[in-house]
Amino acid sequence: MPETMQALVVTEPNVFEVREVPVPVPGPNEVLARVRAVSICGTDAHLIHGDYPGFWPPAFPFIPGHEWAGEIAALGPGADLYGWKVGDRVSGTSHDACGVCQKCVEGRYNLCENYGKPGLHRQYGHNAQGADATYVVQGVKTIFPLPDSLTFEDGALIDPASIALHVANRGNVAPGDTVVITGAGAIGLLSGDAALVRGAARVIVVERNALRLARAREMGFEEVDADAGDPVKAVRAMTGGLGADVALECAGVPEVVEWALEMLRRGGRCAAVGIPTVGVEIAMQRLVLDELELVGSRASAGEMRRVMPHVEQGRMRVREMVTHRFALADYTEALATFNDRSSGAIKIIVAP
Ligand SMILES: [Zn+2]
Ligand SMILES: [Zn+2]
Repeated sequence: MPETMQALVVTEPNVFEVREVPVPVPGPNEVLARVRAVSICGTDAHLIHGDYPGFWPPAFPFIPGHEWAGEIAALGPGADLYGWKVGDRVSGTSHDACGVCQKCVEGRYNLCENYGKPGLHRQYGHNAQGADATYVVQGVKTIFPLPDSLTFEDGALIDPASIALHVANRGNVAPGDTVVITGAGAIGLLSGDAALVRGAARVIVVERNALRLARAREMGFEEVDADAGDPVKAVRAMTGGLGADVALECAGVPEVVEWALEMLRRGGRCAAVGIPTVGVEIAMQRLVLDELELVGSRASAGEMRRVMPHVEQGRMRVREMVTHRFALADYTEALATFNDRSSGAIKIIVAP
């Protein structure tokens, strides 16, 4: 095992470089993994930009990255008891929860009541060192066996696929439902697939970026160009004036959250995974009188294993998300491409 490795180190907001750092050592119930592919997430871009001061990350310098796959290079004490061996191919996720609080024992570890408390909870790439590096250390609760039929690039997209399945689950999508997706980034497009997995009859994608709309169309979804007129009227016209049974809100923009609620049929349900940075005005009168439901959806909780067969069998189309590839050394260019909406970037894979 080498003593040092390459890592993307963010030293202050918007200041980062790829440099040599010590290879981390796995503790009890942790593994050291050789990272083979890591995907850039919208959260990475915000975090590097300094949009969550003092929270994500809690301090600088910091190594981001939380959507990754690779192979186990070393085991910490106890990791073998869970069946892990050096050389095993794994896909990682970020929430390493306490496992003991009430939410954890109910299986909702994404809502761990010990979030961020030292020694109890870590979220890799957010409040603990991440995977934008040659090696990463993660706890056994956050790694999942990657089937031979999936590549490391596929494996780096299991975490966002699990988040998409979680939002479709939170939306209670039922067989025959008409589902509207607001925002056609990777989570939005994969949420369309997740809605189909749950039996949706129709998936309508609302987006204003032409390149993203084209991708939604290529994937077989119905489309509404949000810049071509009133998107709420468009969705109502497409649904006999009634609206959609379920909205999966993946944009995180206040105006779009309002649209998502207005697009619902009476008794409809909106699950929101986009995180607005400012408040949103909710039309409470209609929410009450039409018995609309609005629920949040955070990361995933149990969907890493459940989504894997759907990815293997082509129902969750993670490969269609990958638009660009870069070496870790070229992270500056990779991030600029990710942030440039005219680049057509959906998912960018970085190879450490
Ligand atoms: Zn992510
Ligand atoms: Zn907990």
